Amino acid sequence: MSISQNIVQLRASLPANVTLVAVSKFHPAEALKEAYDAGQRVFGESRAQELTAKQKVLPGDIEWHFIGPLQSNKVKDIAPFIHTIHSIDSFRLLQEVNKQAAKNNRVIRVLLEIHVAQEDTKHGLTPDECRELLQNEQLDELGNIQIVGLMGMATYTDDTALIEQEFHLLHELFSELKAIYFKGNDNFAVLSMGMSHDYPVAIRQGSTMIRVGTSIFGEREY
Ligand SMILES: *Cc1c(COP(=O)(O)O)cnc(C)c1O
Repeated sequence: MSISQNIVQLRASLPANVTLVAVSKFHPAEALKEAYDAGQRVFGESRAQELTAKQKVLPGDIEWHFIGPLQSNKVKDIAPFIHTIHSIDSFRLLQEVNKQAAKNNRVIRVLLEIHVAQEDTKHGLTPDECRELLQNEQLDELGNIQIVGLMGMATYTDDTALIEQEFHLLHELFSELKAIYFKGNDNFAVLSMGMSHDYPVAIRQGSTMIRVGTSIFGEREY
């Protein structure tokens, strides 16, 4: 099937409250344009340089999401246009995003990335580190960022029960944090979880945002 057919079919299968981030990393701008022409407006990229190159040549109404590991020195390159950063894993990075957002007179939406998978290679904060970050007294001073939710990745496995359990844990943490730190704050509403191989499980566990690449654009060439 073509990219546009994949997009149309996938979107039609999603509940209304689930946002699709089309993960276009390693695919050329023409592939993104095909998805755009099929109605897709939200795209996810994982490398700053690749993202800025694509942003320059693609339509201005695209909502760009940054989903990969983010180095502090790259924040300034994406700050002028990035809509949401999914991969905040330290208070220092949050401070840098705030600083660069302020320079651009913007408020940047961010998700705190939580480590729930069993692999060591997965990035993110442990639940305790996340609670600690939210208790940081300097957080209130960061007026140019808005924490809108959590992001997480499950272990890469065929063991659906394990994936289910990890996504469940993320949802529980989300509910806990919302009740304690974001009570009455409607902005804290995003639970970004689910990729090509596990998004149906993620949606069953309460995901509101899925990040799907391969099922739309095909296999990536590294
Ligand atoms: C690459 C990537 C995805 C998309 O993965 P697919 O398996 O191609 O759907 C989602 N989230 C993150 C953080 C990624 O790096």
